Amino acid sequence: MLFNPMYWIFLGPALLLGIWAQIKVKSAYAQMSRVPARSGVTGAQAAARLLRDAGCTDVGIEVSHGWLSDHYDPRHKVLRLSREVYAGRSIAAVGIAAHEAGHAIQDARRYAPLVVRNAIVPVAGLGSNLAIVLIVLGVILAITQLAWVGVILFASVVAFQLVNLPVEFDASRRARDELVRTGVVSVQEDAAVAKVLNAAALTYVAATLTAILQLIYFISLVSGRRD
Ligand SMILES: [Zn+2]
Repeated sequence: MLFNPMYWIFLGPALLLGIWAQIKVKSAYAQMSRVPARSGVTGAQAAARLLRDAGCTDVGIEVSHGWLSDHYDPRHKVLRLSREVYAGRSIAAVGIAAHEAGHAIQDARRYAPLVVRNAIVPVAGLGSNLAIVLIVLGVILAITQLAWVGVILFASVVAFQLVNLPVEFDASRRARDELVRTGVVSVQEDAAVAKVLNAAALTYVAATLTAILQLIYFISLVSGRRD
């Protein structure tokens, strides 16, 4: 099934969009990490300012290891920022730090798509690999029910990706609004912040498209089997 050229031809456009988005993220990050924010604020300071402004006083900010490893950990209520973002004073650094702070603010406000996303995580986490194993086994062994269980499990991955989109777009929107409002970046600098955050958003769009096309392919594959 995965060796079927049709599978790759069908997924091709979404996979190419994903590669293009990755290239755009890298180039936008490289470009904007050389442009200093005029306020002179670091990523960590920017995140702290946004969190304070939003009344999120219980969220910690730590350095994480690894390039672009920035994330918000809702279980421990900690923003983990890569060294470059934590200590950086560039447009890229404050933009990424603010995006992660946006997730912490969503968490504090119980933003509905985030609550739904977190509820799907345990199933979707299992999903993608196990689903494909079940579909392949179901098709090879001609156990259609097994293949359908795999398809349903894979649908949870698609659901996760779909609900992840508003979560990511909203975090970036909050980040940009708050960066300007709190004076970390000027209205003129906002377009540069948008360049970095929009490139990152495109990678999520590509991942969602890929998952949707995979699901359509799996459904057509399994429904075509009546033996
Ligand atoms: Zn995010």
